[in-house]
Amino acid sequence: MKNCLSNRVFRLISDIVAEKGQEAYVIGGYVRDALLGRPSKDIDIVTVGNGIELAREVAKKLGAQRKITVYRNFGTAMLQHEGYEIEFVGARKESYRNDSRKPVVENGSLEDDQKRRDFTVNALAISLNKESFGRLSDPFSGIEDLRNKIIRTPLDPEATFSDDPLRMLRAVRFATQLEFNIEQKTFNALANNRERILIVSAERITDELNKILISKTPSKGFTLLERSGLLKHILPELDNLKGVEIREGKKHKDNFLHTVKVVDSVSRLSDNLWLRWAALLHDIGKPATKRYSTETGWSFHGHDYLGAKMVPEIFKKLRLPLNDKMKYVKKMVQLHLRPINLAKEEITDSAIRRLLYEAGDDLEDLMLLCEADITSQNREIVKKYLNNFQLVREKLKEIEEKDAIRNFQPPVKGEEIMETFGIGPCREVGKIKNAIKEAIIEGTIGNNYPQAREFMLKKGEELGLTPKK
Ligand code: ATP
Ligand code: MG
Repeated sequence: MKNCLSNRVFRLISDIVAEKGQEAYVIGGYVRDALLGRPSKDIDIVTVGNGIELAREVAKKLGAQRKITVYRNFGTAMLQHEGYEIEFVGARKESYRNDSRKPVVENGSLEDDQKRRDFTVNALAISLNKESFGRLSDPFSGIEDLRNKIIRTPLDPEATFSDDPLRMLRAVRFATQLEFNIEQKTFNALANNRERILIVSAERITDELNKILISKTPSKGFTLLERSGLLKHILPELDNLKGVEIREGKKHKDNFLHTVKVVDSVSRLSDNLWLRWAALLHDIGKPATKRYSTETGWSFHGHDYLGAKMVPEIFKKLRLPLNDKMKYVKKMVQLHLRPINLAKEEITDSAIRRLLYEAGDDLEDLMLLCEADITSQNREIVKKYLNNFQLVREKLKEIEEKDAIRNFQPPVKGEEIMETFGIGPCREVGKIKNAIKEAIIEGTIGNNYPQAREFMLKKGEELGLTPKK
């Protein structure tokens, strides 16, 4: 265990607490991750005594200028050292009331402190005390659970989750991040306490969802959320996608299972959290647009548009940023069918130019999403489309080089239109500008100034305008 403590700062803390006659331990995530061989930049130190005072003394020994950040409400203090964030806290005992995640806190022993930890693998502590330096304290068989890749609560899981329901999401997140399984009794408690998640703030829920999404295989987390019933409470729009309906022998696919497959596929191709959100939400418009017809079977017409419209509301509810990230996700959801629809038909230059214009710099991401969407469908569909999809990619490249439509800048600007016809800002200016853009996309004229100027004059005349002499 000593190799977990190669950091010089552990020796320093050890010396200081020896002098004070106080106990200190490294505890929680850092110990877990060190044993798993995962690099980690957060170190939690628990001391039987005052954590803030200990942090001050460590800071003093490390250098005169060093600052600590004190969180008096939590009785903790944080110190930055060589890229690590070291947090100090006094060992404590916690008890909970029914209506809040905030416990009543009193001073306690190391063991009290380990009992308040969420999972056995997060309750491991390593001694920094002289006589037992490096010795592991593992009262709940956390090492065995690490070895067997199990998430389990140290105490009764029903009480653990009822006390602080955020722990339910942490269980799912750790299972996904570490590729562990949730022990059955712990999982049952997750399902039993699912409604308690409603007392957790949207920000905390979203933090965990983001951590699940940036894991290697996010489907694991979302499947656990669905199976435990938590998903219905935190992202009902996604939960609504599950299930298969059969009529007259025709069935549609389970859109929840399909969605999480698409998220995994996109995750293999890109680390972009927002592209993963787009994959997660790409089909959320399906339940409301689902129709059945005897002739053509199941359809979800317009689910791309409806889904895009649902994105801002979902972002707001989850306290996700309402800035360009939201716009990006909305755009991806709205356009997710476009590349594949192109591949189904004859691929015209104008359709390609329109896609380049609408997707702009997000075109590559859109292609990744669309490809992930195809490869997550059944094998027949995949075979049918993938070849054509390659053609779309080639054609996009060709047209992009030829016509420079991405980040389209109109070759004739509004000022020039006003100046030419001697008019102020009015609807006609917008109409002419739009007509020029459309003509370029349709291929009626090229993306260049002389042709755009000529087209502007013609269009102006049609609208009853005459050029100034
Ligand atoms: P990561 O930093 O990757 O999220 P971590 O295990 O370090 O993982 P933190 O949130 O940094 O998680 O918390 C540090 C430690 O504090 C945990 O390992 C756990 O022992 C304890 N802990 C954190 N949150 C809770 C909670 N809600 N209930 C009980 N113990 C918790
Ligand atoms: Mg941590």
